[in-house]
Amino acid sequence: MPIDENFPKNHIVLGKFKDPLSDNYHLVWGPGRLAEAASDENVKKDYATKGEEIKPLGIHGTFVAVDWDSCIADGACLMSCPVKVFEWYKNPGKLLRRDKLDYTDKASPVKEIDCIWCMACVEVCPTKAVKVDQANLAVHEKEIAGLT
Ligand code: SF4
Repeated sequence: MPIDENFPKNHIVLGKFKDPLSDNYHLVWGPGRLAEAASDENVKKDYATKGEEIKPLGIHGTFVAVDWDSCIADGACLMSCPVKVFEWYKNPGKLLRRDKLDYTDKASPVKEIDCIWCMACVEVCPTKAVKVDQANLAVHEKEIAGLT
């Protein structure tokens, strides 16, 4: 179940996510659902080790949107992006595949605004968790204006 091809239709803004290392932020959208992350063996093992339940997390970002319920912490998007849009949620500022905290980590599009629309992240993601759509830049700006 890749990211909803109709996103952001049928989704609502849950809030803003602020990058702990910069002034960048992106929107977080819901509702989430149980998807690839909930059935991936590596993800399930690391959640179990932490004693945490896998719950719906929703979508981070708007014009570079990552479905965290589909993200299995593969890291391909971080490695492929020529302008370093992504970093690890649980290891801020780190971009290499081996830098993820564990398989409960997620690709966070903290520098969404730097996207040059090359689509590399969309092509390499093993679960098709990423949707990049320049048309959704206007959606981001409208929603941000409503939040501020
Ligand atoms: S489309 Fe290209 S520039 Fe934009 S986030 Fe993906 S890899 Fe980075």
